[in-house]
Amino acid sequence: MSSNIIMKINNVSGGYDTPRGFVSAVNNVKLDILQGEILGIAGESGCGKSTLMKIIYGYIKPPLKLISGEVLFEDKIIVPSDEKFLERDIWWKKISWIPQAAQNIFNPLKRIIDHFEETLNTHLHKRVTKSELREIVEKHIIDLGLPKEVLDSYPHQLSGGMRQRVAIALATILRPKIVLADEPTSALDVMTQKVILHLFKKLQSTQNMTIVLVSHDIHMLSVVVDRIAVMYAGEIVEVGSIKDIFENPLHPYTEALIESIPKIGEKKFIKGLGGQPPNLLNPPPGCRFHPRCRYVMEKCKNQEPPTVKIDDRIVKCWKYSS
Ligand code: ADP
Ligand code: MG
Repeated sequence: MSSNIIMKINNVSGGYDTPRGFVSAVNNVKLDILQGEILGIAGESGCGKSTLMKIIYGYIKPPLKLISGEVLFEDKIIVPSDEKFLERDIWWKKISWIPQAAQNIFNPLKRIIDHFEETLNTHLHKRVTKSELREIVEKHIIDLGLPKEVLDSYPHQLSGGMRQRVAIALATILRPKIVLADEPTSALDVMTQKVILHLFKKLQSTQNMTIVLVSHDIHMLSVVVDRIAVMYAGEIVEVGSIKDIFENPLHPYTEALIESIPKIGEKKFIKGLGGQPPNLLNPPPGCRFHPRCRYVMEKCKNQEPPTVKIDDRIVKCWKYSS
């Protein structure tokens, strides 16, 4: 394994057992995460982003199930593995997960400092006094540019944006190497989004953290990420640097996503993507994108496209192989 790869996702497939059948939410995903990068994962709602985050964190509880594949962190297999091992050695300390709508996970009856105390007492395997603990938390909060007064507040006394920033502070209190943040800016106003994105940049530059940012909004991601992985219907269809993806999208789905971003001063009608995302209970055969693709060819309808590497980019499309 190349030394700058911190996490390797090897052909992971998983989904949900439901009364109506199996929902194939993540299919054959292969992705390397590089040490110290901010990687964006973009794609429409329902394409499997949150499921992929749960799987790579190893938080796999029914009805979610892992079908195949594995996740390696620093050369060691962490998924599939025993949850006790993940709890003891990985979660919070090495990899943190900020789930979607994390601003709502706080216990309304507890102050913010209590949440930090609980986390540190559970995961820090040494005894610290209450005042030492407060010192650690205050330093971290101030380092991240948050006012230390938030610590004595109850969750409902803070704005949604401030709660999200606190959720990020909580997730990083034990200095994990990787932070997985699922839709951290959705439902927030543009100014607050900027503050949150800046916070991730800061964690990357000052603490050398590797950050995975998940969003349905590729435009928002483009402000901070180094690379983007584009997901469609449970699959990664393209991976590339932010510059390459925006200047020259290879996959037809990426192209449509970029075209759908409104441009300043542009009056013409925004070309979006027609049609609906597929039902993952019964995904289309061949390329999962073919029913909506403007370049569709015969073989796209029944043969799964291979994933090809073009320079340092990856694309899963028949246009780029024969
Ligand atoms: P995203 O985060 O990109 O919006 P998700 O990972 O939440 O997508 O969902 C991917 C697919 O899995 C969707 O079809 C969704 O309906 C389905 N799904 C998500 N959670 C469950 C669940 N608990 N049970 C059944 N299906 C689910
Ligand atoms: Mg989601």
